[in-house]
Amino acid sequence: MPDTVKPILSVEGLQTVFNTRKGEIHAVNHVDFDLRAGELLGVVGESGSGKSVTMMSLLKLLPMPPAEVRNGRAMFDGRDLLQLSDDKLRTVRGGEIGFVFQDPMTSLNPVFTVGFQIMEPLRTHMGLSKRDAKKRAQELLELVGIPDAARRLDDYPHQFSGGMRQRVMIAIALACDPKVLIADEPTTALDVTIQAQILELMKDLRDRLGMAVIWITHDLGVIAGIADRVMVMYGGQVVEHAPVKELFRNPQHPYTKALLKTVPSLSGERAKRLTVIEGQPPILSSAPNACSFRDRCPHAMPRCGTENPARYGIGNGHDAACFLVEPEVAHV
Ligand code: SF4
Repeated sequence: MPDTVKPILSVEGLQTVFNTRKGEIHAVNHVDFDLRAGELLGVVGESGSGKSVTMMSLLKLLPMPPAEVRNGRAMFDGRDLLQLSDDKLRTVRGGEIGFVFQDPMTSLNPVFTVGFQIMEPLRTHMGLSKRDAKKRAQELLELVGIPDAARRLDDYPHQFSGGMRQRVMIAIALACDPKVLIADEPTTALDVTIQAQILELMKDLRDRLGMAVIWITHDLGVIAGIADRVMVMYGGQVVEHAPVKELFRNPQHPYTKALLKTVPSLSGERAKRLTVIEGQPPILSSAPNACSFRDRCPHAMPRCGTENPARYGIGNGHDAACFLVEPEVAHV
């Protein structure tokens, strides 16, 4: 996708902290990114890297307090999401921006039928009559590939398999024709075959409906075949960002290189022994004033312990936050 396509979502300087009894946790530190209409942006990192907190901060999906969005702008369709009232944000959430979570069993309400749960946003956000909402709910179940959709509207979540429940969650997220769909580790709890089916489904929906997708995952391999661009996060920061092919062909940040070694071979066979990244993720008790990867980095130098590297552009829409790629033209 050309860089000239105007972003539908533009995030600048996002900073989120958690105020805990033991002090502040700096979960998201000055994150910047753009999302363009119709593209799929993969957001990759270990647990605790800030990828989910970044997206949840945009839609106030975090408990506040203890969470606090301290700085930043998130321009979506001419409005700053971070400045919207709770009421206005509620109409964006589940309407213009859909969200699919990791575990559909905790997101779906076990006491209501699946049909009711798909119809609810159609009635509240789009004002459809009960009859029209039911018709649309059936179409949505068909769209996400659930057989015998008309009958299954009356079933409860526990009557669906894990993969089918995830499809129901996607149907709910798609109900109001969102411009952006945020999917947070939506395939992690599923077996590999079902994961592949859900990925194919998302790719197909993105192509057919033209919505932009943010796909959050800890596994670079999952998004290799579907993402347009990838943003790698570590220690609450974006450490590398590039078009997907460029990232796989020419990774620059030592963390991305380590992540790539954990990806099973592309031939489809699992590598005999997957590499694990040595060391622990950083404790984010203060704003970064050094490279957050320094304790695990094989190339760390004295400077890495006293300065936090900026994101340096290296051409082809590619940038990385590492002194090894300095000096180049600074990104953003
Ligand atoms: Fe490693 Fe230094 Fe680069 Fe950080 S800035 S990734 S510690 S070389």
